[in-house]
Amino acid sequence: MALELTIHERTDKKTKPDYNDLSFGTNFTDHMFVMDYDKEQGWHDARITPYEPVSLDPSALVFHYGQAVFEGLKAYKANGEILLFRPEKNFERLNISNERMNIPQVDESFLVEALQTLVHMDQDWIPTKKGQSLYIRPFVIATEPVINVKPSSQYKLMIILSPVGAYYSNSDQMSPVKIYVEDEFVRSVKGGVGFTKTSGNYAASLRAQTKATELGYDQVLWLDALEKKYVEEVGSMNIFFKINGEVVTPALNGSILAGVTRDSVIELLKHWGYTVQERRLSMEEIAEAHKDGTLEEVFGTGTAAVISPVGMLKWKDKEMVVNNKETGKLSLDLYQTIAGIQTGEEKDPFGWTVPVEVK
Ligand SMILES: *Cc1c(COP(=O)(O)O)cnc(C)c1O
Repeated sequence: MALELTIHERTDKKTKPDYNDLSFGTNFTDHMFVMDYDKEQGWHDARITPYEPVSLDPSALVFHYGQAVFEGLKAYKANGEILLFRPEKNFERLNISNERMNIPQVDESFLVEALQTLVHMDQDWIPTKKGQSLYIRPFVIATEPVINVKPSSQYKLMIILSPVGAYYSNSDQMSPVKIYVEDEFVRSVKGGVGFTKTSGNYAASLRAQTKATELGYDQVLWLDALEKKYVEEVGSMNIFFKINGEVVTPALNGSILAGVTRDSVIELLKHWGYTVQERRLSMEEIAEAHKDGTLEEVFGTGTAAVISPVGMLKWKDKEMVVNNKETGKLSLDLYQTIAGIQTGEEKDPFGWTVPVEVK
């Protein structure tokens, strides 16, 4: 049965926040997208409604056993045009997460279209200053009211939108972060759920993040769970190392999230003629490169920051300073090019951006 989208527009427009002072993820637009799933009808009742709280039974499965997945992407408005960045990738990944978490598959192209309609309706909410954007959060939760460990027979998929400020108001403000290499707690293991965007991964990461913060570091770098030797990824970013002119990033081995930004960075680097190795990379090797002076740059990649240069890595008793704690040339070039493509200011030879058009 084909899904149809119904629209209930709100009459009382919400008050917009101060766009000169937007904090991340605290303001939401006038509308949201919702659809429901049950065994009899499959996904049904796709609708855009006023943004409002949802009412769930206290026994809803998501509250107890955590069957929940999410996505994150952004829309940008520049010169009157609204652009999404590779939205099909996010819904493709949502289905990868769904599959692993025993949640029914969704119609990816229907959701890309529904998202376009939603963003179009709330386009006045998209901030337009440099670096600002509309953060898009699709998610699925298990809603069947039963306290029993089993795959839910009912789900809700929602998409909410949040205007967000610039991560860096200027590219000369990409201040490199200090990273704590975590060698006690682990995030994920092959066969587990590390390659999915499921809520529990983030709940499980908080303790280590708190520890890193207390020790004066910005973020955690996770190692493989079995040997605690090989680099995996940062909290919500993938990680890249420029060693002796070549770029190395951990291969997607089943415990790492396949970032859309990671994929875009690899494609762009290859386009620029760089050798990019996706392989296993040990902390020993990084420490060696640091000692030799061949560890040229380190940076994280993710939707929020696009590129986040790393200025220091703390591993066991070693504090390794990277590139003099300054933003490297490659990090800067990648940031400016990808951020430029996302806002339509740079040419998009890869066909990554999707203009918001409503049929
Ligand atoms: C979302 C996320 C990333 C980055 O993915 P993007 O698609 O580039 O935003 C990387 N690692 C983890 C654990 C994530 O949750």
